[in-house]
Amino acid sequence: MIASVPLIVTRCPVCKKKLALNGTMLPGQMIVCVTCDSHLRVESLDPPRLAQVDPALSRTEDARPEAYG
Ligand SMILES: [Zn+2]
Repeated sequence: MIASVPLIVTRCPVCKKKLALNGTMLPGQMIVCVTCDSHLRVESLDPPRLAQVDPALSRTEDARPEAYG
């Protein structure tokens, strides 16, 4: 077994179940909880922290153009 990619184990803020994050995740990335299907944003990795987001809001965030000024 190759362990080059670290797993970060944390808990879903919604259902409190253990959630293993891929160590290559970056803060700001969106994930979906495998247990409760909540949309979560990676707030930080050290310590691991997740925040629930509204899927509709996250979609808007992702679609926001980078240059709008
Ligand atoms: Zn969950």
